[in-house]
Amino acid sequence: IEPADSLVHALRAVVADSPDRTALAYFDGRITYRELDELSDSVAGHLAGRGLERGDRVAILLQNSPLFVLALLGAWKAGATVVPVNPMYKSGEVGHVLRDGEVAALICSDRAWESYLRETAAESPVRIVLTGCELDFQTRGDARVLSFERLPQAADAADLATVARAGYKAPEERELTPSDIALISYTSGTSGTPKGATNTHGNIMHNAEQQRVGLALPEAPVYFAMAPLFHITGMVCQLVGCLNDGGTLVLAYRFEAGVVLDAFAEHQPHYTVGPSTAFMALAAHPAVTREHFSSFEMIYSGGAPLPPALVEKFRADFGPYIRNGYGLTECSAPCASVPPNLEAPVDPASGTLAVGLPVRDAIVRIVDDQGAEVPFGEQGEIVVRGPQVVPGYWRRPDATAETFPDGELRTGDIGFMDEQGWLYVVDRKKDMINASGFKVWPREVEDVLYTHPAVREAAVVGVPDGYRGETVKAYISLRPGADMDPGELAMYCKERLAAYKYPRQVEILPDLPKTASGKILRRELRSRPQDSE
Ligand code: ATP
Repeated sequence: IEPADSLVHALRAVVADSPDRTALAYFDGRITYRELDELSDSVAGHLAGRGLERGDRVAILLQNSPLFVLALLGAWKAGATVVPVNPMYKSGEVGHVLRDGEVAALICSDRAWESYLRETAAESPVRIVLTGCELDFQTRGDARVLSFERLPQAADAADLATVARAGYKAPEERELTPSDIALISYTSGTSGTPKGATNTHGNIMHNAEQQRVGLALPEAPVYFAMAPLFHITGMVCQLVGCLNDGGTLVLAYRFEAGVVLDAFAEHQPHYTVGPSTAFMALAAHPAVTREHFSSFEMIYSGGAPLPPALVEKFRADFGPYIRNGYGLTECSAPCASVPPNLEAPVDPASGTLAVGLPVRDAIVRIVDDQGAEVPFGEQGEIVVRGPQVVPGYWRRPDATAETFPDGELRTGDIGFMDEQGWLYVVDRKKDMINASGFKVWPREVEDVLYTHPAVREAAVVGVPDGYRGETVKAYISLRPGADMDPGELAMYCKERLAAYKYPRQVEILPDLPKTASGKILRRELRSRPQDSE
């Protein structure tokens, strides 16, 4: 694999070759590669003109819109490091990132700036602000993407669309190298205060190039950005992967099943990657048909467990076979995935669906608590080494030493490998339930729950229990129109699982809490008040 030094380098080749090809499609708006190049040059020139220096940090808080891509490329062309931030974050969470990342420039939506970010930024190192209106694109007809009417501009922030059109020249001599930090990606903090993983240009280009070569999609492929761009899956597998592949990236603001299905019908995408919960939502939408998936060459699920029952249901009802990909922010998206020409095996002993084979150049091993490799089929912690593994966390030498001993990533996930090299993820180490000394992995129970036709989403957690210490509890949301007695679901599991594993308690909720990247938040469910308390 020989990736370009950075996406900016890769883009030059596409612009030279196919300047008029559509790079971005957003509702009725389109931007060509030439336009994308010129507009992002101008953003870079503006940032440099306002004193942004090479290596400075630029935070981006935007949904999946063309502005996100302009902001990202503009910052990279100015030699900066980008800090993608979840636009749903509250003031305190953004404040932590702005201070911890020592962020110099902030790029966000007009609305967020007006409603809370102006105050948050005042108490941070931010000195350059650019805002834009992402939703303008959605509300107007077929006008060009950057000529839409806008909300009145805030007086203390420059308007991103105006800046992009102003024709500033990108600064010279800020050529990126593969070891420059491209992103500081803050983890969602399920394991303490959010830490910033430092993804280099080399890290992300490696995964993007590996994906391009591995997928071998048709010329000028159409990618649909299902995952949010601020999260590593959306960033690497969609944005960077698509532009590196000379494709068209279809953006749809944020995930809404009905809007996504309309975008499939309009743009006929070849490829998408999303969390499994997005596919559950699409499958449960009243308007969904087989026709919606007819243009797809390949679909991947990544970033969260993929229940085998969903894969089968999807294939039976809609046609495509959903392939799994396993990865972490710390290894810049996938480190194992199911190759396009293969289907994932199911481990006969445990019924677990493989997440994939290690991606090219990644060395994935299973080790015990002492760090010694365990035999095939035996469970242990998954560790990863390779060109996609980040050099460490931003200004956290202790956490870096702990998570990356010798540069090898300790994932905190428990898994095993079979003799053919297929990787199986059992669960997160810290989510293990200890019921009277019996180990219960929530995933195994969830996979059984997902085979029940009434179940839309399932999450299993350990809750305090006076007798067992911890007991297994399942939270469920139902498919539209389904009606279910919680006790009946517990019995359904009891018939299919060892006695200590089946959920003694089942609670039905209208929806399960999820992160913005689509992962079900077991942590939030664990902290819900329990009947016994
Ligand atoms: P934090 O690190 O703060 O907990 P996070 O969970 O959002 O935040 P990510 O890097 O987005 O961090 O997620 C990586 C984790 O997601 C993996 O460690 C693994 O537990 C889970 N995961 C990712 N892909 C898969 C998959 N295909 N199957 C099962 N689990 C997966």
